[in-house]
Amino acid sequence: MRILEISNLTAGYWRLPVIEDICIDVNDGTVVALLGPNGSGKSTVLKSIMGFTKIFKGSIVYNGVVITGASTTKLARMGIGYVPQINNVFRSLTVKENLEVGAYTRKNDLNIDEILEVFPEIKTLLNNKADSLSGGERQLLAIARALVSNPKLLLLDEPTASLSPKNTVIVLSKIREIKSRGIPVLIAEQNVLKTLEISDKAYVLVSGRCITSGPSEEILKNEDLGRLYLGLKR
Ligand code: ADP
Ligand code: MG
Repeated sequence: MRILEISNLTAGYWRLPVIEDICIDVNDGTVVALLGPNGSGKSTVLKSIMGFTKIFKGSIVYNGVVITGASTTKLARMGIGYVPQINNVFRSLTVKENLEVGAYTRKNDLNIDEILEVFPEIKTLLNNKADSLSGGERQLLAIARALVSNPKLLLLDEPTASLSPKNTVIVLSKIREIKSRGIPVLIAEQNVLKTLEISDKAYVLVSGRCITSGPSEEILKNEDLGRLYLGLKR
């Protein structure tokens, strides 16, 4: 089943469109990657889903409901979890408090212990301030926070940006685990190779346009694409 369908989306900020004619499908049970160089429009796609941009054209349908331009609160209540690239935890709160705030935004009986099974790395840090965590731990907390609200779709904006290679692998491995728990993920990333390994399907954006899309394994095999647009040298 299709959980998200973005059709011919043109969107941007104020008067200026920065992404044009974007079409993206996310099916249940899949991880979909949004790849492309810096400034290509990945974040703008995610922000458009969350209602943070000006939409000039196109539509966004979530679970059969048109959500184009819907409020962030409504989208959260409908089950869309969003982890922005920066400022995605409350730094002055403890890890536990951050998770509790996450759970509060959507009334449910999901327990934090269950989420912590997926994130043993932060389980021992529950009473530490988020501010004191390492970059990797903080990203894990941000993702865990989004999960305690029991989302039906998770949007992640460059969760590995500025992380060490080791932490990048840890964070990306969680995405597989999230998928195995039945939550589809749309992830914007610049770590092309590692993301293609954990995703089912990928879209490649260049200058606000989708230049290609397909099964991740096929994108991985396309050497020209990798060399020209994704900074891959092989
Ligand atoms: P990416 O996430 O792929 O790095 P972005 O979606 O952040 O790309 O940015 C796409 C384009 O939109 C860039 O040219 C960027 O300068 C522009 N842009 C991003 N945010 C804003 C904003 N708040 N106001 C105006 N332009 C923006
Ligand atoms: Mg971005």
